[in-house]
Amino acid sequence: MSQNECVIGVDIGTTSTKTAAFDKKGNIFALSSCEYLLHTDIPTRAEQNVEEIYQAVIQTLTKVVKTVSNNNGHITAISFSSAMHSLIALDKNGSPITRLITWADQRASSEADDLNHTMTGQEIYQRTGTPIHPMSPLVKLIWFKKNDINTYENAAKWIGIKEYIFYRFFGEFIIDYSVASATGLFNLQTLNWDSKALSLASIKTSQLSKPVSPLHILKNLKKSIAKQIGISEDLPFCIGASDGALANLGVGAVSPGTIACSIGTSGAVRTIVDKPTLDPKGRLFCYTLTEHHWVVGGPINNGGVAFRWVRENIFPDLQKQLGDPYDALTALAKEIQPGAEGLLFLPYLTGERAPLWNAYTKGVFFGLTLTHDRRHMIRAVMEGVIFQMYSVVLALQEIGVNPHEFRVTGGFTKSLLWRQIMADIFEKDILVPASPQGSCLGAALLAMKALKMIDNFSTVKMKVKIGDIHQPTEESVRIYQKLRPIFLDLTEKLIADFQSLAMIQKDTT
Ligand code: ADP
Repeated sequence: MSQNECVIGVDIGTTSTKTAAFDKKGNIFALSSCEYLLHTDIPTRAEQNVEEIYQAVIQTLTKVVKTVSNNNGHITAISFSSAMHSLIALDKNGSPITRLITWADQRASSEADDLNHTMTGQEIYQRTGTPIHPMSPLVKLIWFKKNDINTYENAAKWIGIKEYIFYRFFGEFIIDYSVASATGLFNLQTLNWDSKALSLASIKTSQLSKPVSPLHILKNLKKSIAKQIGISEDLPFCIGASDGALANLGVGAVSPGTIACSIGTSGAVRTIVDKPTLDPKGRLFCYTLTEHHWVVGGPINNGGVAFRWVRENIFPDLQKQLGDPYDALTALAKEIQPGAEGLLFLPYLTGERAPLWNAYTKGVFFGLTLTHDRRHMIRAVMEGVIFQMYSVVLALQEIGVNPHEFRVTGGFTKSLLWRQIMADIFEKDILVPASPQGSCLGAALLAMKALKMIDNFSTVKMKVKIGDIHQPTEESVRIYQKLRPIFLDLTEKLIADFQSLAMIQKDTT
């Protein structure tokens, strides 16, 4: 790679598509992003417009290609990251007959509940690594079979968003092992579609895309599209992997025990392992990164969304102030000592995924007294989110991972206080990469590996620059060591009551 050569990473996310060009040292050369809507007009649904996302990919790619060429850059390859668990039905002409159904769609909750209570559900998890949850395309397919037979019978193909983009670009239905491994339909050992999962959903292999390695390279982009984007038809396209797996690569969390933690709207804790690793208790996912690397970890629902709830529902007055309201909230939380003077918050405002996988859980303030005010509540919410992330770290430890370093990304990293709370609760150093474009960089690095520009992932660590490091502070650690078990016990004790409360609500609405 000569000085101005760069690789483009495209990250097709749930709120936006971000596209970035990186030079050989991993520095950002050009960046463009385009947001789109999440349609939640029908209760329990969270869908997107397929064409809108396709156009966002084209638009951001075109802009980045232009910036690179205006700056005398040369593009070596384009590579892709995408959100997991998406599902679109296509008719026999390859046209969508559904919107894009995202991971956040809850329509298949009762199908997930039913399957979770069977041995079959647990067996499927052990073979596919995807927890049985409404996010899983397998469970969504079961929903279609039961509730929308018309779509189900007319669907010639069931695909995800990245497959759709590649179908439009190259006319082929292919899926990388990484995205496939998050469908609940893919066998982690054989790296192929799992016949038992397919028969559970009553679909045929011919209705799915052909699985290929995330390092798979395609050329021969359709002429009209190459012209529109402003690139040669022969430019190598690397299919890439899922955003979760690539985020690990993009932050340099590439060896067992180096953990990637992200807190955006939701949150996740993940580490790379060298063989499929499953949790006997079914709390953790295991997804493929490449044929030789797997990512094991857990997602939490209530990350930044809990902080947004504080902003919107406890401090609506702050919305009118100038400046970033989250910075104002952080400043108020900083006035309060670690532990929020005995106030704890269980952050389950939207049910919870890992490690509980329980949709009935609710948010709880515990320990309120007359001395507490709104500032204590902010601090307790920030701490509660981190305690919940810590409970996923504990599950990882139980299956043999030895966490020694944490690398963090997502909106929460804008708050120094929140990062420090993580260092103090985890009792480990927290490293903050200088570039926030983790999954884009991960996609670009995967293409560099596919094109043999880098030998192995251990060299990736050097390309990821670290901005800040937070170390645990002894005094705070002492306080959090006492609070951690109370947080964990409290959650466990309330599980049955959360369910009873949900049943009462169901009966009265
Ligand atoms: P997404 O998952 O949509 O990509 P982001 O990574 O942008 O989300 O994170 C959004 C979340 O980050 C917000 O909901 C909020 O909780 C948190 N956040 C944003 N800005 C700040 C800030 N200045 N300080 C602390 N938290 C912030």
